[in-house]
Amino acid sequence: MPSLHLITAEDPLTLQARSRELIRFPQLTMPLLAGLTPPDWIVSHEDEIVTPVDTTRRYDLVGITAATPGAPHAYDLAREFRNHNVPVAMGGPHATLMPYEVAQHADIVVVGEAEPLWRHILRDEERRPPGMHAFHSGTVEVTPQNSRIYRHAAPASLEGLPRARRELIQHGGWNRWWATKGAIIATRGCPHKCDYCTIPHLYPRAQQMRLRPVPEVIAEIRSFRDKGVVFWDDNLAAVPAYAKELCRQLKPLKRWWTSQTTMNSLRDQEFLQLAAASGCKALFVGLESIDQQSLNQAQKGHNRVQDYRQLLNRCHDLGIAIQAGIIFGFENDDLDIFKRTVDIFGDIGLDNATISLLVPYPGTPAYTMLEQQGRIIDKNWRHYNGKTHVVFRPRHMSPDQLLNGYEWAKTQFYSISHIARRLAKSRTGLWWNIPRNLGYHLGLRGEVLARAALHQA
Ligand code: SF4
Repeated sequence: MPSLHLITAEDPLTLQARSRELIRFPQLTMPLLAGLTPPDWIVSHEDEIVTPVDTTRRYDLVGITAATPGAPHAYDLAREFRNHNVPVAMGGPHATLMPYEVAQHADIVVVGEAEPLWRHILRDEERRPPGMHAFHSGTVEVTPQNSRIYRHAAPASLEGLPRARRELIQHGGWNRWWATKGAIIATRGCPHKCDYCTIPHLYPRAQQMRLRPVPEVIAEIRSFRDKGVVFWDDNLAAVPAYAKELCRQLKPLKRWWTSQTTMNSLRDQEFLQLAAASGCKALFVGLESIDQQSLNQAQKGHNRVQDYRQLLNRCHDLGIAIQAGIIFGFENDDLDIFKRTVDIFGDIGLDNATISLLVPYPGTPAYTMLEQQGRIIDKNWRHYNGKTHVVFRPRHMSPDQLLNGYEWAKTQFYSISHIARRLAKSRTGLWWNIPRNLGYHLGLRGEVLARAALHQA
């Protein structure tokens, strides 16, 4: 039987930064791809967040997924395998944003979603057909280097989606004791177009939400052994009627769940009540900034800063914690932004946050604008991790001031005193909110070590 080895690639810099995180969510992309693979293939998976890749082993095909900061490292892995005549397929966000660059390092490039393409790609791999051709669900283009770039003709239907091969989800470190393998998707897409976000560019017609039939989602969750469920959706409640029906059918299963959504859904009291009743313990919401002008400029005007406190209280009253995305480096950010952000989120009792530097990913309007203005100062994709480097010239400060301000804000936000202050106000889900905050507190030390290693190199 042919063998397929799947790799979730992660750049060593990012790995070091994340090495001390206490809680990590499972990676779903490759277990989903394994679920799409016909049963006559032997499939294995290595997640670099958990285990280093062994490039000495031989397979009939290696598949690698990588985001932009992991791309150069993924190219190194691909070179090792290809030097031993193992063909390599690459997909994921970076391959979708930069297919011709990726084609210089891989035999096969998957642009966009793999579902409509994957079986066709595997069949092609077995019989090596002639060059450029179209097939019922997509097209293949052959590049001058003889790599094949696959594109689908239409977005994948989420009906009848095969289940992810959950046994291929890996956990390591602290995570192996308590992390869930209950990862799933229910929807795909997001109706918004924030100018720094890759989602509108990763999915064709991303603004048209695709919904998995609720009974199929429920049936899959029923099969989970874990109580915890992570919906890997970009905006789970973008279609309120769907999200509410999902919550209603989820409730009897008595699970605990989390997902990503937007401020719009926090304004929907009925959704929040149904979510809480069905076991929602936390929602990730990209609040991003406490500066309304920055939000408006980034096409994120659906966030209203004046509503943060009220909506947070509403969630806390229902027992739902909020993990916010916070980004520094927006056009309107000045040197004042760091302290104001820390103060405001401490004051309103924000449970937790993923704090990042703005990353203008290639292909996004943010990148195009900065490039046109000559403000992109670094094109090493490894540095596009939102943690260790500023890759553009900010409008109201220097790159060093942005990096130092970001580090200062993060250190303050995850200081023990700030954690205590925020959680004393929140009083929500302390049994998991405390470890999660401490995880970030420890993770921050990992980042400091990563930066120290970087400066020594
Ligand atoms: S709301 Fe979130 S997922 Fe949607 S476009 Fe904006 S950043 Fe991306």
